[in-house]
Amino acid sequence: MDLKHYEFWFIVGSQDLYGDETLKQVAEHARIIADEFSKDSLLPGTVVLKPTATTPQAIRGLFEEANAAEKCAGIITWMHTFSPSKMWIQGLTANRKPLLHLHTQFNRDIPWSSIDMDFMNLNQSAHGDREHGHIHARMRLKRKVVAGFWQDKEVRRRMGVWMRAASACLDGMNSVVLRLGDNMREVAVTEGDKVTAQIKFGWQINTWGIGDLAARYAKVSDTQAEALAKNYAASYELASELAQPGNARSAMLEQAKIEIALKEMLETEHAGAFTTTFQDLHGLPQLPGLASQRLMEQGYGFGAEGDWKQSMLTRSAKVMASGLPGGVSFMEDYTYHFEPGNESSLGAHMLEICPSIAQGKPRIEVHPLGIGGKGDPARMVFDAAPGPAVLATLVDLGDRFRMIVNEIETVKIENAMPKLPVARALWKPYPSLNEAAEAWILAGGTHHSVYAAALTTEYFRDWAEMSGIEFVLIDRYTKPDRLKDELRWSEAYWSGR
Ligand code: MN
Repeated sequence: MDLKHYEFWFIVGSQDLYGDETLKQVAEHARIIADEFSKDSLLPGTVVLKPTATTPQAIRGLFEEANAAEKCAGIITWMHTFSPSKMWIQGLTANRKPLLHLHTQFNRDIPWSSIDMDFMNLNQSAHGDREHGHIHARMRLKRKVVAGFWQDKEVRRRMGVWMRAASACLDGMNSVVLRLGDNMREVAVTEGDKVTAQIKFGWQINTWGIGDLAARYAKVSDTQAEALAKNYAASYELASELAQPGNARSAMLEQAKIEIALKEMLETEHAGAFTTTFQDLHGLPQLPGLASQRLMEQGYGFGAEGDWKQSMLTRSAKVMASGLPGGVSFMEDYTYHFEPGNESSLGAHMLEICPSIAQGKPRIEVHPLGIGGKGDPARMVFDAAPGPAVLATLVDLGDRFRMIVNEIETVKIENAMPKLPVARALWKPYPSLNEAAEAWILAGGTHHSVYAAALTTEYFRDWAEMSGIEFVLIDRYTKPDRLKDELRWSEAYWSGR
């Protein structure tokens, strides 16, 4: 995924009062900033400078043009001078793109010996941007405010985070979630309102019968599967029995065929994410294990047991993480370790964890699966790389979507688990295992989540803000009792929205 594909329109505000000379300087400074932004890899999108905005008509025109521009993922505004913000009301009312208010100024330092009133008139972001921010607040607009000198790394990093979140939102607007089968029977948390989700996020969540995949699977030739298995051998370690013909190798080749068939189907339907369910595998020899892992590695979102919310959230996180170190995977809280002083949570799934989060080379193995009643599935086995990460999940509360994020520290797995041949991650959640679990459960969080080593809370917070949904954070400062109050206040805030 190349995020350069996404455009971010840079709209610099001013007014006619200052005369042509000042406006020329404003435009020139804006051009210098836009050029430097475009060259900086911290800002992954393409920054497109628009003409300096000085009249209500022009401002409204720019926002309407942005709405219609397919590649425009967001708008960055900055007031180099004063720009009376009533001029912005019509444009901001029309705007449907994510908004970032950059509060900066062209010069870093005050030129003490030469400063005069001309300089003051030209370089007055300090009050122009306050006027601009006021109208955003007055109109209750969703936006991110980033303040600081435009050459600062931290300012650009925060802008880059917002750009990535905006890219993921636009990707979502154009994404189909291909559901193979329905939700796992009787499960509540993986259910949800798909119509509201499409209204909120643009996700087109639709169902295909597993028979459609089975039919494609049946048509994949042995030669195609063998060719893909060569890629497997080049990218991963293979258990020794997989190198020669036999049941185990056949199981791997079956997964290769599932991967080929499923990818074909995803491409045909222009889908960015998919779900499976072990309760509906008619015509398939195994649960798609290795195949799901491989497709996640290629950037597709995945959700097990029909969990379309986590599937598309995984996809969105992968768009945000594009080109960044670390990985992103579908995840599930599985089992706890309550040893005093070493409390941790073991995350895994039956099979489907993305190798982008692996430490070292994943190993393909074939083992029986105690659920689903199908053939022994091939899967990649690995431990997740240690380091900071976040777990994010999306739940449907009936009247709204809530995102919950928990900051965690993934740790090295010191003990071999020879009888657990699945990909897994072991982490210590903040503020502690007990408190994090209490907080997560109070907030109604699912056992499924998106595990992101490549991302931080800020990405998901920006994404939730743009999407207009509730955001709940569990971090080192969280106290479950206080969180309970927060959730009650939140209930009042969100009711009727
Ligand atoms: Mn599950």
